[in-house]
Parts: sequence; C-alpha cells; structure tokens
Amino acid sequence: TYVVTDNCIACKYTDCVEVCPVDCFYEGENMLVIHPDECIDCGVCEPECPADAIRPDTEPAMESWVELNRKYAELW
Ligand code: SF4
Repeated sequence: TYVVTDNCIACKYTDCVEVCPVDCFYEGENMLVIHPDECIDCGVCEPECPADAIRPDTEPAMESWVELNRKYAELW
C-alpha cells in the first residue's frame, strides 16, 4: 500500500488522482489520502507526484501516515 505524506499539504496538483487505476484517492482535511484497502500497490502514482508526497508504507515510521490516510479515506 502507498500512503500520502506531508509534502501533499497545500499541493494543488492532482496528477496522482488521474493515473490511479482504481480511483482510491480521497480528499482529506488539507491533503489527499489513499484508501489503504483499495490501493492495489501498483506504484504508478509515486513518480507522478510533483511534491514527492507518496511513499510506500514499507518505509520506516509510516504508521501515523497510514492511520491518517485510512481515517480520512473512510469518511467517504
Ligand atoms: Fe492508486 Fe496504484 Fe497509487 Fe495505489 S499505488 S494509490 S492503486 S496508483
């Protein structure tokens, strides 16, 4: 699963939304989020993000971002 992190805050680009094959981006409070149950881990969005905000959840210290992505994605 990929997660959106703080570089997304105030970013106005939506390149990631356009390339995601399963439409699993949602609007959070001040950034986009990825629904962790819907992401198919394809990795297509990561290089498309101009802010370098999308990271794989396998990187260190991602737990709080995973939680935040889930919290806001599940509001939809
Ligand atoms: Fe969508 Fe693929 Fe990015 Fe997951 S990794 S959010 S499925 S584009």
